[in-house]
Amino acid sequence: MFKANQFYKQLNEQYLFSTIATKVRSFQNSNPNVKIISLGIGDVTLPVCNAVVKAMQECALTIGTKNGFVGYGPEQGHLFLREAIRLHDYCNRGIELSADEIFISDGAKSDIANMTDLISRDCIVGITNPVYPVYLDTNMMDGRRLVFLPCKAENYFNPVIPRDGDIDVIYLCSPNNPTGTAMTKEVLAEWVNYARKNGSLILFDAAYEAYVTEPNVPRSIYEVPGAKECAIEFRSFSKTAGFTGLRCGYTIVPLELKDSKGLNINKMWKRRQSTKFNGASYIVQRGAEALYTQSGREQVRENIAYYQHNADNLLKGLKQVGITAYGGVNSPYIWLQTPDKIDSWQFFDILLNECAIVSTPGVGFGTCGEGFMRLTSFNTHENTSEAILRINRLFNK
Ligand code: PLP
Repeated sequence: MFKANQFYKQLNEQYLFSTIATKVRSFQNSNPNVKIISLGIGDVTLPVCNAVVKAMQECALTIGTKNGFVGYGPEQGHLFLREAIRLHDYCNRGIELSADEIFISDGAKSDIANMTDLISRDCIVGITNPVYPVYLDTNMMDGRRLVFLPCKAENYFNPVIPRDGDIDVIYLCSPNNPTGTAMTKEVLAEWVNYARKNGSLILFDAAYEAYVTEPNVPRSIYEVPGAKECAIEFRSFSKTAGFTGLRCGYTIVPLELKDSKGLNINKMWKRRQSTKFNGASYIVQRGAEALYTQSGREQVRENIAYYQHNADNLLKGLKQVGITAYGGVNSPYIWLQTPDKIDSWQFFDILLNECAIVSTPGVGFGTCGEGFMRLTSFNTHENTSEAILRINRLFNK
C-alpha cells in the first residue's frame, strides 16, 4: 500500500509571508490612497544588467542556427562558465580550485535542498536559530535529528560551538539571512577546526558573498585553511546579479572531501547530479558567463552599490531614532531590535499601521528571532529614504 512520507506532517505551516500579505492587503483596503513601502522584499528589484541581456540575445540567435545549436550540456555545467568562476571568484582571490569541483545549477536553493540526498538519515544536523528555513525544512522532510544553535546579539548572531554532543552536519550562512551579520575569518576558522576534529560536514551558504565589504569577512569558506577537507560552499547569482528569475547558481564540492567511511563526496555529488539533473539552461549559463566580463563586473558592482547605499541609509536612520540595528554592512539585510522589547508581530503592525511600511517579523525565522525585525535594502533609493522619514516621524511624534 502506498504510504506518503510521514515526516511532512511535522513541517511548520508556511504562514509567515501569507500572514504578512493578508495584513498588507487589509491595510491597503482600509487606506486605498496610502502608498505602502515594502522593506520586506526578499527579491532584488534592479533589472538584469545589460552585459547579461546582450549575451543571452546573442545566444538565442546562435542556437537558432544549424551550426550554433546546443542541446544537452554537461550535467555539471558548461566548462566556459566553470572556468570563469574558477578564475574570477577563486583563483584571483588566492583560492586554488579545479573546474571539476564546480557544479552549476539552477540556483542555490535546489542545491542546498538536494545535498540532503548525500547525507545519511542518522546524522545529527545543526540548525541555527533564526534560520533560512530551507535548511530546517529539508532535514525535517527526511526525519533527521536536529540540534538548534541559538544566535544571539551578545555573540554577534554567530552560533556557538557546542561543548557536549557532536553535530555531524552544520549549516552556516554568511553573510546571514535573516540577521544580515557576517562571520569573521576567526569565527569561521573555529567552525572549520571543529568540523575537522569531529569529522563533521559544513554546508556553507555564501549566497550573499557579493555584499561583503569588510576585509576580515571571508567571501568563501575556502579562505580558511583546511576548509576543503570539511566544507561544501553554495553560491548564487540571484542576489549578486539579479538572477532570481533567470535561475543560476553553483556549488563547490572539493575533490578531497570524504565522509567518515572514506566515500568521496565530489564523486557522489557528480553521480547524483548526472542521475537527477540535466544541467542549467544553456542560455542562462551564457548570461552568467557575461557577468565575468569587464562590463558585466562593473554593472554588477553598480547594482550592489545601489543596494548597499540603501542599507547604509537605513542603518543611519534607525540609529538616529535610537533603534539598535545589526547587519547591513556586509549584507542587504538589517536586523533591528524592536523598541522596548515589544514582540515582532506587534512592531510589524506598528510599522504597517503608522508608517505604511512592510517589514518581516524576526520570529518568522525561529524563536530566537522574537524581538527582532528584518528589513531589506532591495527597494529604490527614493522609497528607502521615504521609509526612513516615516520612521523618524513615528519616533518624534
Ligand atoms: N540561501 C539564502 C540564504 C537565501 O536567502 C536564498 C534566497 O533568498 C537562497 C539561498 C536561494 O537562492 P537561489 O535564488 O539561488 O535559489
